[in-house]
Amino acid sequence: MHTSALVLFSGGQDSTTCLAWALSRYERVETVAFDYGQRHRIELDARLNVVRAIREGFPQWAAKLGEDHLLDASVLGAVSDTALTRETAIAMQANGLPNTFVPGRNLLFMTLAAALAYRRGVQVLVTGVCETDFSGYPDCRDDTMKAMQVALSLGMDRRFLIETPLMWIDKAATWTLARTLGGAPLVDLIVEHSHTCYLGERSQRHAWGYGCGQCPACQLRAQGFARFTGAPG
Ligand code: ZN
Repeated sequence: MHTSALVLFSGGQDSTTCLAWALSRYERVETVAFDYGQRHRIELDARLNVVRAIREGFPQWAAKLGEDHLLDASVLGAVSDTALTRETAIAMQANGLPNTFVPGRNLLFMTLAAALAYRRGVQVLVTGVCETDFSGYPDCRDDTMKAMQVALSLGMDRRFLIETPLMWIDKAATWTLARTLGGAPLVDLIVEHSHTCYLGERSQRHAWGYGCGQCPACQLRAQGFARFTGAPG
């Protein structure tokens, strides 16, 4: 029986839902994020706001919420040239992947998270990767995560479990899952505090939260929210 989990928590809609999912299941939940020269520090600020709002609004979860970790993964910026690490317009590339794809990013994150979990005595890693609203990121695939679970468990001689609660659900179902886990207060918290927009835009508040409304991340989030609430998308 696993009692503790480490959630890869970026402060977005998906990872906030995963954090709530973990808090509803495990006795102790820690969080980790990676600073890799994101174009916008807003993401890293959002996660602190989400954690604070959970502590204030969900006392039954606050007691389980353990240490938060921020690891420097800036080496990614040195080895890749993508729209997430540089001031480049978001576009599709010739290979069919958006230029927001950072090669090896999730592989590196899972490895760092497992090393941290090893030290903290945590066996379960929770990540919000998803094949359903698939951006084409090969390191978000279920097969990739299963292979990582085997590789990390063998390579560290410690049995790790990688949980991916969002793998087979779409963005509308992710909002529904949030409502199931924490009711309307959790949905409101995610709308208000989580951040998804690739452009780091937070001046405009929509029904689904803050964002430019135009980038691929905003469009996915807005369309999912519209389906969730039954409003015209
Ligand atoms: Zn946006």
